[in-house]
Amino acid sequence: MPERVTTVEQYVEKVGPHLMHETYRVDDLPGRLLGLGCKTCGGEWRISIKDFKATGDIAVYEPAAKKFLPEEEKKK
Ligand SMILES: [Zn+2]
Repeated sequence: MPERVTTVEQYVEKVGPHLMHETYRVDDLPGRLLGLGCKTCGGEWRISIKDFKATGDIAVYEPAAKKFLPEEEKKK
């Protein structure tokens, strides 16, 4: 089972370091969960859509996730 987190901040902390690796989605839409797995490292992390929205949504996720991307990705 993917590791479950409950805030956007925790989610970015977990998935951020893997964004430049080979990742895949582990969303569970019937269960209302969003998630990401890393093929390179073998980890999987999930957050519920409810928790994601309640703790900041994309407004928190995007700027935090960008810190893990290289400079040329930030400009897109
Ligand atoms: Zn990784």
